[in-house]
Amino acid sequence: MAAECLFCRIIAGEIPADIVHRDETVLAFRDINPQAPTHILVIPTRHIASAAGLTDADGPLVGHLFAVIADLARAEGVVASGFRVVTNTGPDAGQSVAHLHLHLLGGRSMAWPPG
Ligand code: AMP
Repeated sequence: MAAECLFCRIIAGEIPADIVHRDETVLAFRDINPQAPTHILVIPTRHIASAAGLTDADGPLVGHLFAVIADLARAEGVVASGFRVVTNTGPDAGQSVAHLHLHLLGGRSMAWPPG
């Protein structure tokens, strides 16, 4: 746990969140400022600052993050309509919380390319 990290504090239960999935290695909760009808953040319970901090050794973790996303997408009913998975990494991408998080967005049509 990184003491100053907002998402580590959510994992530790120090800050409330609308949690939709929790297991030993992955936590998922609804974004506080949703950008789509479904907007869930899926994060590793181990502090990793961003996707830039991943290595080959994290392969099982990354696979599990995406398996949880697929389960959540099914539960949210957005598989047939489609959904987007985004992980903003660094300043140009607009990353605002330095703990790896995958945005699961769905429930509306989305434009491409992103702004
Ligand atoms: P990013 O800008 O890609 O780093 O995404 C960070 C996301 O965290 C944003 O979509 C915020 O709305 C969201 N966020 C910030 N604080 C909280 C919180 N306390 N609970 C849930 N989501 C949050």
